[in-house]
Amino acid sequence: MLIPARMSEAEEQRWVRVMLDKLAAQESRRTLGDAELAERARRLSEQYFDGRARPRSVRWVTNQNTRWGSCTPSDGSIRLSHRLQGMPEYVVDYVLCHELAHLLVPGHGPRFWRLLEAYPRTERARGYLEGVVAAERLPHVPGARDE
Ligand SMILES: [Zn+2]
Repeated sequence: MLIPARMSEAEEQRWVRVMLDKLAAQESRRTLGDAELAERARRLSEQYFDGRARPRSVRWVTNQNTRWGSCTPSDGSIRLSHRLQGMPEYVVDYVLCHELAHLLVPGHGPRFWRLLEAYPRTERARGYLEGVVAAERLPHVPGARDE
C-alpha cells in the first residue's frame, strides 16, 4: 500500500483502516449473483445428478431466516437464504445440491439422503451449518467478537 508521506501515525492508521474496510466491502460484494448461482446449480446437477435436476430459477432471498434453502418442485424454483453468503463454497454447494435433490425426491427419506451421498461434502457441510446454528444460540459474550 502506498501511504502519503506526511501523515501522522494516527492519520495513517485511520487511513489503513478505511482501506481495509473498502477491501472487505469489495470482498463481500463478490458473492455470486443470481445468474452465477443458476449456472452453479446447473453444473452441480450435471456433476452429481446426471443433469436430471433442472431448476427453472435459482435465486437469493432475504426473507428466509429459519431455512437455508427451499424449493418448489411444481415450478422448479430454488431459493437460497442470503445468510449463506460469505460461507464457504462447499456449504453453498451443499444447500444447492440439497434443493436440487428435492426436485427429484420430496421429503427427507432414505432415498433423498442416498441421492445426496453423491455430493462428497454433505456431512461436512451439514456439520458446518449445525455449528452456525449452535453458535447463534450461545449467549452473547461482550468482547468475544470484534466490536
Ligand atoms: Zn430438505
